[in-house]
Amino acid sequence: MPRIISKSDCVGCANCERVCIVGCITEDKDKKRRINESACVDCGACQLACPRKCISQNNLTKKMILFHKNRTIKSFV
Ligand code: SF4
Ligand code: SF4
Repeated sequence: MPRIISKSDCVGCANCERVCIVGCITEDKDKKRRINESACVDCGACQLACPRKCISQNNLTKKMILFHKNRTIKSFV
């Protein structure tokens, strides 16, 4: 299932946009982020990167969590 952002809780930090593996998260006029649901591949990277937990929280396997944590560390250094 594609992810959905709860806009009322989004603070526009852009973490999700930086880590999205297919680039389907963009900035809205209000600086908050939106997900192009037709392009989302449900990888879960944005879910892990969001400090506000305002992206739908689907179940992830331990392998997926480890994969994204390694990627995220590299993308932020
Ligand atoms: S689940 Fe993955 S593909 Fe979908 S919006 Fe989040 S980071 Fe992008
Ligand atoms: S990571 Fe969360 S709070 Fe930050 S822009 Fe994305 S949805 Fe908004």
